[in-house]
Amino acid sequence: MIKPGDVISYLEMCQTEGVNLQRGMNFRLHSGYSLILMSVRKGAPYADVIEDNGRVLTYEGHDVPKQGYDINPKVVDQPMINPSGTLTQNGLFYKAATEAKKSEKRTEPVRVYEKIHSGIWVYNGLFKLVDAWQETSNARKVFKFRLELADDLENVDLQLGEVDHSRLIPAQVKLEVWKRDKGQCVVCGSKDNLHFDHIIPYSKGGSSLVAENIQLLCARHNIAKRDRIE
Ligand SMILES: [Zn+2]
Repeated sequence: MIKPGDVISYLEMCQTEGVNLQRGMNFRLHSGYSLILMSVRKGAPYADVIEDNGRVLTYEGHDVPKQGYDINPKVVDQPMINPSGTLTQNGLFYKAATEAKKSEKRTEPVRVYEKIHSGIWVYNGLFKLVDAWQETSNARKVFKFRLELADDLENVDLQLGEVDHSRLIPAQVKLEVWKRDKGQCVVCGSKDNLHFDHIIPYSKGGSSLVAENIQLLCARHNIAKRDRIE
């Protein structure tokens, strides 16, 4: 079971979700939830924003596909509807958010993965899709989606007792730690099942905001450390 803060390869992410993830927005990927892939790296294709220590995301909608258009996708409005008349991913997420706001439907749960390095992803946790709107950016219309961390929905994690606070580590800190620890467990050098670990636990006042308090541990050493602390 994947936990917020887990670092995984692209392949592991696809294995976890049981599908070959080809696109960033995946409305109702599985019956219980939707899934989005985000990035705040320099040169990322969309203007995603993480705020409030990782608890709030503003996710940008997606452009028309490159195929079948003679035009640069970055200069045309992000579409609500496909040429066939069905809703695009933008349209599906937009409809779910506006219906939930009017309390006609439940708030859509969305699993969020963030790219921190080429081929390297972090599971940011389960979020709720709380709002959607269109705005003008560079003389065209883009979609924006507001998502808030859904601690209350992450039942599986809550059952483990202590809530995992690794999700609150900002992206730039994760990337700094990833580079410093060379993408491997600081104890054994393993590159599998890695997790961002608070050196001084969050529950004991350790900070999520500085790389000095965060390290990469494999699952085995993460558990070993937890047992020692408890
Ligand atoms: Zn290890």
